[in-house]
Amino acid sequence: MAGKTLKTEAVVLRSIRYGEADRILHLYSTARGRINAIAKGVRRPKSRFGGRLEPFFRLDLLLHEGRSELLTVTNVSTLDGYPRLRSSGPALTAGARACDAVLRLLDSAEPNPPAYNLLCRYLSMLDDSALPRAAAIETALSFRLKLALAAGFSPELTSCARCGEAEHLTGFSGAAGGVVRAACEAGSFELSEEAHRFMVEAIARPLAEAPEAGDGALRQAERAVSETLEHHAHVHLRAAA
Ligand SMILES: [Zn+2]
Repeated sequence: MAGKTLKTEAVVLRSIRYGEADRILHLYSTARGRINAIAKGVRRPKSRFGGRLEPFFRLDLLLHEGRSELLTVTNVSTLDGYPRLRSSGPALTAGARACDAVLRLLDSAEPNPPAYNLLCRYLSMLDDSALPRAAAIETALSFRLKLALAAGFSPELTSCARCGEAEHLTGFSGAAGGVVRAACEAGSFELSEEAHRFMVEAIARPLAEAPEAGDGALRQAERAVSETLEHHAHVHLRAAA
């Protein structure tokens, strides 16, 4: 076979049945960011790849790169299958939304170690039954804020995104990409101090120490992230939880 071999670690974001026995894999990799690959014959009972090419699996992969845009899986070993994540409904939903957010927001074929490490850390937390808050909305939103930061679309949170003033930041504008003074942006919505503080702390703290906030503040924070990504990354994410 002509072509090159690519060796990389990757997380399976999506796995789609293809043809009689194959699967198309959407992967997030350390070597090259977002890549797509085909695994041939994996749905046959005697496939040596077994059931490892499913969403959330963290794998060491050997891929053959030919002329097609799809790489071909030639060897796989499992680094982590996150089995407890798979057996919990809320963790499964949170993991699926995280993979979906990575799929939509990080579409370039560039390595992004902060984004990759963030995804793996979140999947590990969801797999760790000693961390019951892992699947909570606070953690899901913290993941989303940190992912936006890793992708280069973090909202401006320290001063008015229109005029730079640091006082009276009572609004948020997705178009302006951050907090604003009410007078500066007609299209802003009201952002409570609690929601503002939640976003600042969520970005500053480790994922496992996501700050707490009330429902209203969390809804505002989610809207702020969603509208920022819609305006600046042209990406529409599903509800965080
Ligand atoms: Zn302003």
